[in-house]
Amino acid sequence: MTPEFVPPQPPALLPPWHTPEREALQLQARRFAMDEVLPVADELDPQKGLIPASLLSRLAELGYFGITVPAEHGGLGLGVFEYCMVSEELARAWMSTASILARAQGLGTALADAGPRRELLARSARGEWIGAIALSEPDAGSDLAGVSTRAVPDGDEWVVTGRKRWCGNAEAADFIQVLVRERDPGPGERRSAGLVNLLLEKERGSFPAGLTGSPIDKIGYHGFLTWDLTFDGVRIPRGNVIDEAAASDEQGADATRAGFAQAQLFLNTARVHTAARAVGLARAALEDSVLYLQEREQFGHPIGDFQALRFAVAEMAAQVEQARAFYRQVAHLLDVGVPCEREAAMVKLEATEMSVRVTNQAMQLHGGNGYTTERQVERHWRDARLTTIFEGTSEIQKRIVSDRILPRSPLS
Ligand SMILES: Cc1cc2nc3c(=O)[nH]c(=O)nc-3n(C[C@H](O)[C@H](O)[C@H](O)COP(=O)(O)OP(=O)(O)OC[C@H]3O[C@@H](n4cnc5c(N)ncnc54)[C@H](O)[C@@H]3O)c2cc1C
Repeated sequence: MTPEFVPPQPPALLPPWHTPEREALQLQARRFAMDEVLPVADELDPQKGLIPASLLSRLAELGYFGITVPAEHGGLGLGVFEYCMVSEELARAWMSTASILARAQGLGTALADAGPRRELLARSARGEWIGAIALSEPDAGSDLAGVSTRAVPDGDEWVVTGRKRWCGNAEAADFIQVLVRERDPGPGERRSAGLVNLLLEKERGSFPAGLTGSPIDKIGYHGFLTWDLTFDGVRIPRGNVIDEAAASDEQGADATRAGFAQAQLFLNTARVHTAARAVGLARAALEDSVLYLQEREQFGHPIGDFQALRFAVAEMAAQVEQARAFYRQVAHLLDVGVPCEREAAMVKLEATEMSVRVTNQAMQLHGGNGYTTERQVERHWRDARLTTIFEGTSEIQKRIVSDRILPRSPLS
C-alpha cells in the first residue's frame, strides 16, 4: 500500500512565545509562587490544610481569577497561553492554587440573560465568583453519558435529585455547576441527549437546602476539599441553565448537541491547563532534586557528582522542557482558534505521564529522605499522580487521539 500524502495538522504555525508582556507576567507569577505560595503550601499541605482566604485575596489582587475574562468585564483579557503559563508557576508551588483559578475565568456565567451574565463575569474576574464543577457520579466517571442525577421541572424551578462524587471545592464555592439529566434519550439519539448543566447559586462555606456533602479523604491535592454530594430535591431556578452543550458521551470524547464547539473549547482548555499544572509539578521535583544532589554527600562526594544521577537530571530537564513547549503550542492553537482537540488530548496525556515519571525519579534521587514528609518531593509526587486520572484519564485521552487517527472498522 502506498502511503498517502497527509498535510501537516494543524498547519505549521510559529507561535510568538516570547513577548515582553508574557515574560513580565511569568516573572511576576514565579516571584509570587515562590515567595507567597510555597511557604503556605509547605506549612499547610502536610496538615491537609485549605488555601487560606488571605492567599485567595492575593490571587484576586493579581487578577489571576480573570486572566481569560475580557478586559471590558474587569479581567486581564488574555488567553489560554497566559492562563496556563501562570498556572504552571503556581503549580510549581502548590497545585491546588493553580486549580482554584480554573473555578473562575468566567465559569458559571454562561446564562442566556446578558444582564446577570455581565455581572457574574465581573465577579468572576474579581475572585468573587469561584465555583465547583459537579460532573462525576459514583457510577459515571469516564462515561459521563451515564449521569443519572435528575432535574425535574416544577413551575419556575428545577428539582434536582441524585448523587455526585469528586466535586472539588463544593462547600467553599459561590456556585456549583451541576451536570444533570432532564430527560432520557429518544430513539436513535446519543446517550448524552438530555444532559444539561445547571447553575446552583449558594453561599460560600455552606450547602443550600436539600444538598448534603461529605469530604473524601484523598492522599494528596490538598488545599481544598473534594466532596461526595447528595441532592435531595434541591431547587434551582428554571433560567439557570448554563450550557447544555457541556454534555458529552465521555469526558470530551464525543457529542452532538448544539453549541458543542463551546463545550469542546472548555474541555480542551481544561486539558491544556492540566498539562501546564503537570509541568509545574515536574519542574518543582527537578528543582528540588538539583538542590538535593548538591547538598547530600555519600562516598565523600556530593551525590550530584555521580554520573548516573547527573544523567537522570538531564533526562528530567529535557522531558519538562518538551512538555512545556507542547502545552504552549496547544494553548496558542486554542487562542488563535485552530481546532486542536486531538492535540489537547495528546498534551494532557504526555505532560501528565511525564510528570508522574519525573516526580517518581525525583523521589528516587532523594533516597530515604524522599519518602518522608520532611521534604516537598512527596507532595509533588502525590499531586502529579492525580494528573493522569482527573480531567479524563490517560486511557480516555488515548481513546480520543486514536479515534482521530485510526478509523474503527465496521466490526468495532
Ligand atoms: C482528586 C480528584 C478530584 C476530582 N475533581 C473533580 C471535580 O471537581 N468535578 C468532577 O466532576 N469530577 C472530578 N473528579 C473525577 C474525575 O474526573 C474522575 O475520577 C475521572 O474522570 C475518572 O473517572 P472514574 O474515577 O470514575 O474512573 P473510571 O471511569 O471508573 O475508570 C477506571 C479505569 O478504567 C479506565 N477506563 C474507563 N473507561 C475506559 C475505556 N472506554 N477505555 C479504556 N479504559 C477505560 C480508566 O482509564 C481507569 O483506568 C476528580 C477526581 C479526583 C480523584
